[in-house]
Amino acid sequence: MTLFPEMITSTLGESIIGRAQEHGLITLAAHNIRDYADNKHRKVDDTPYGGGVGMVMACQPIYDCYQAVRSAIPEGESVRVIYMSPKGRRFDHSVATELAGYDNVIILCGHYEGVDQRVLDEIIDEDISIGDYVLTGGELPACIIVDAVSRLKEGVLSSSECYEGESIASGILEYPQYTKPRVFLGREVPEILLSGDHAKIDRYRLECAVDLTRERRPDLLLLHPEIEESLKPKPKKRKRGGGSGKASDN
Ligand code: SAM
Repeated sequence: MTLFPEMITSTLGESIIGRAQEHGLITLAAHNIRDYADNKHRKVDDTPYGGGVGMVMACQPIYDCYQAVRSAIPEGESVRVIYMSPKGRRFDHSVATELAGYDNVIILCGHYEGVDQRVLDEIIDEDISIGDYVLTGGELPACIIVDAVSRLKEGVLSSSECYEGESIASGILEYPQYTKPRVFLGREVPEILLSGDHAKIDRYRLECAVDLTRERRPDLLLLHPEIEESLKPKPKKRKRGGGSGKASDN
């Protein structure tokens, strides 16, 4: 639900998310709140009670837009209604995973000074922020949410491996990627990636990923000590009956 639906459709009509819509894997609809304004001039905002700068988005058009969107959702399907706001819970991979669990997500994009609190109290389950900075509107944040959530939906990426090994989703940051040519401006692709030895390549990539994470996001390694642990050489198993141990007296 937005005052600028083309910001949404043009951004999300391209590439992987665009194709996912064409293939019917996800359905995205940008609803223009202005279409629901019940006044002659289709006015959607007004000055704030109590004074202050800017305009506030009014309750009525948003509420009617919400009712129309909500009534089109088949009975029995789950719905989460979120308002994009710098005051909200910080968006991250775990919030994306949570939202991907719903059949439907309705996103309200604010603009100007924001939205009349009463309609938020009436329709919104949760405010979500994309970070500690303020944007001019909720459209770009909404696109970020739709993109991050959609790629977790089955079939949108070629396989779940595509996101499971990626930065953050895997628990740490991803290793660096390379493609052809083998040498670019004198910089060579690491030799081991050309070796064809997949066990060695996997280990090399994991080492790179751990090093990078230690440098940039040590907090992630603290959350997942088992990843670093898996790189340590395993103690060799003692051979049965071997070694210098004394035979038992029993
Ligand atoms: N007056 C509001 C405040 O101080 O919390 C900020 C309004 S902002 C200029 C206009 C709209 O942009 C908000 O209603 C919200 O929908 C969106 N927005 C801005 N920053 C955002 C962020 N970090 N995360 C999510 N949405 C944001």
